[in-house]
Amino acid sequence: MDCIFCKIVKKEIPKEFFYDNKDVLGFKDLHPSAPVHFLFIPKEHIQSITHLSGNHRKILASLIYAAKELAEKLKLKGYKLVFNVGRDGGQVIDHLHLHLLGGWNAKKDIDAMPSPNLDK
Ligand code: AMP
Ligand code: ZN
Repeated sequence: MDCIFCKIVKKEIPKEFFYDNKDVLGFKDLHPSAPVHFLFIPKEHIQSITHLSGNHRKILASLIYAAKELAEKLKLKGYKLVFNVGRDGGQVIDHLHLHLLGGWNAKKDIDAMPSPNLDK
C-alpha cells in the first residue's frame, strides 16, 4: 500500500518525531497552516474517522492525549484539534491524523524551540 504516513511510521521517510509512543507518532506538518502545526497519527493504518471500529477507541484517545501533552510541553495556552474526514471534509491523506494548530499569539517562532524530551 502506498501510504505516505505508513512510510513515515516505517521510517522510510526521515522525520523528526515530537511525540512517539506505542501507538502514536507526532511530527510537524510539512505545510503549516498555523505558527504551530503538528500532526498525530496512529502507527496502525486506519483510513479515517469513518473507518474507526469499536476496538480503536484506545488509539483515538491516545491521539488526543498525545496532542494535549505536546501542547502542554510547548506551553500553548489555547489551540485547535482538527480531524478532516473524507474528501468532502478536506482530508487529503488517507491515514487518520489529528491536526494540532496554535501559536497565533506566541512571540517565539516554534522552530526556535528545542525538541521536547520524548522520555517521560
Ligand atoms: P489533511 O488535509 O487533513 O489530509 O491533512 C494532511 C496534512 O498532511 C496536510 O496539512 C499536509 O501539509 C501534511 N503533509 C503531507 N505530507 C506530509 C509529510 N511528508 N510530512 C508532514 N506533513 C505532511
Ligand atoms: Zn497508512
